[in-house]
Amino acid sequence: MQLIDNFNFAGKKAIVRVDFNVPLNKETGEVSDDTRIRGALPTIKKIIADGGCAILMSHMGRPKQNPDPKYSLKQIVPAIEKYLGTIQFCDDCMKAEAQAKALKPGEILLLENLRFYAEEEGKPRMEKDEPGYDEAKKALKNAQKDFAKKLASYADVYVNDAFGTAHRKHGSTAVIADYFDENNKMFGFLINSELKAMDKVLNEAQKPFTAIMGGAKVSDKIMIIENLLDRVDNLIIGGGMTYTFIKAQGGKIGNSLCEDDKLDLAKEVLAKAAAKGVKVYIPTDAVNADKFDKDANTNISKTNETPDGWMGLDIADETIKTYSNVIANSKTVLWNGPMGVFEFDKFAKGTSAVAQAVAKATQENGAFTLIGGGDSVAAINKNKLADKVSYVSTGGGAMLEYMEGKVLPGIAAIRGDK
Ligand code: AMP
Repeated sequence: MQLIDNFNFAGKKAIVRVDFNVPLNKETGEVSDDTRIRGALPTIKKIIADGGCAILMSHMGRPKQNPDPKYSLKQIVPAIEKYLGTIQFCDDCMKAEAQAKALKPGEILLLENLRFYAEEEGKPRMEKDEPGYDEAKKALKNAQKDFAKKLASYADVYVNDAFGTAHRKHGSTAVIADYFDENNKMFGFLINSELKAMDKVLNEAQKPFTAIMGGAKVSDKIMIIENLLDRVDNLIIGGGMTYTFIKAQGGKIGNSLCEDDKLDLAKEVLAKAAAKGVKVYIPTDAVNADKFDKDANTNISKTNETPDGWMGLDIADETIKTYSNVIANSKTVLWNGPMGVFEFDKFAKGTSAVAQAVAKATQENGAFTLIGGGDSVAAINKNKLADKVSYVSTGGGAMLEYMEGKVLPGIAAIRGDK
């Protein structure tokens, strides 16, 4: 596999799939968080420093037509120029031949939103049950190849650095790779560091290895939990899915979130964990609310004795203490999903405590700590701890799927994963 580190871009045109799906301020139209732009800079700067030119392509939002000014990447040009100086823009990603051809070493061209074309996603813009959907999808799959081929024709080299869309088989994330030979396609620095962090946790974890799984539902996290049971020493459960486990064990859960059709699954997970010698931690006490509201009345109870009419929305002090100890003594930590409804201040304490404990394990116990999933990343940022943990993943869905053991099309297209 070609590595970007020892590739010389001098005199070459590189088409780079970046993730510039950035949030915009609704009033000013300005980029309100440029983390994703900053994430792509090392790769772009390397291409330019070598004497190559970079053709950047991305999606933004979910446009339904072409063009759709609300989703135009033209709006983010100033946010990119802030870091890279003047760049060029092409307002139709399928009509960039002339501009791409005219690029000189050191120049950068940004293509308009790829999703202005349905071919990028290869998904018809109609409901699945509408007549003609299947035919439309088949036709689009072929059109997607032409779309990708056209993008490929602009450049000598393909670089994928959009980790956030690596789990999608889209024109620019996977199909395009077929039009470049082995030596002329590679990951950018961002994808490389994401893979390194995830592979370290999956394959080279130092023990004790603790996985912290939170969030709303067991059903969303079951695959990752199952894939981790062979690897971890401790499995910490938190968030809404707590109560499916508690009910499965015969506890009283009041109005707490519960997936009644997943009770057997929860029991199976506990049995498998026991058989593999994994210690499972389920919250023992909780902060309950009388309604799902930021101003709800609260009380504290054992998780298996939730009073009628109340719902558990955060872990309470006894659980926080237990979890903090387990985390602080770990050498590898993977954290995905909040411990409670951390969007409401009254129920944010448990998630903040876990964020602190993860940072402490990193700083004081030399642990390798990986945080992924939109909400846990938000929690780490909210607690200003991003630079106190080992790695914060930029790809929610992509990270989850990789850690579930799935093959990601965007990764497989370059690395040949099967
Ligand atoms: P996920 O996207 O699966 O990681 O779930 C994150 C969401 O789970 C957040 O929006 C939380 O507010 C929510 N959540 C966490 N704990 C609970 C709980 N005990 N009850 C209901 N929702 C919860």
